[in-house]
Amino acid sequence: MGLPQFRYHPDPVRSGSIVESEKKCKSCGQSRGYIYTGPAYCEEDFDDDICPWCIADGSAHKKFRAEFVDLNGFRDGVPQSAIEEISQRTPG
Ligand SMILES: [Zn+2]
Repeated sequence: MGLPQFRYHPDPVRSGSIVESEKKCKSCGQSRGYIYTGPAYCEEDFDDDICPWCIADGSAHKKFRAEFVDLNGFRDGVPQSAIEEISQRTPG
């Protein structure tokens, strides 16, 4: 199974934000071969246990209210829809 596509982060494996791993995802409970190792901003304590599919479909965000990108780096004028996609459904 191929990795999900992230419009704003085209190659997260190369950037090291997603790595091959047999760890189980905390969100869907499955071991799918890849795990996200980048930053997550939320109240739960994550330890590299969210899979990229749960980021891509927004379920990790819904479940844990997690955001994966620090929004302080955004300038005014970025459309809200892009900000939501980047912070909630794109690996950091
Ligand atoms: Zn998952």
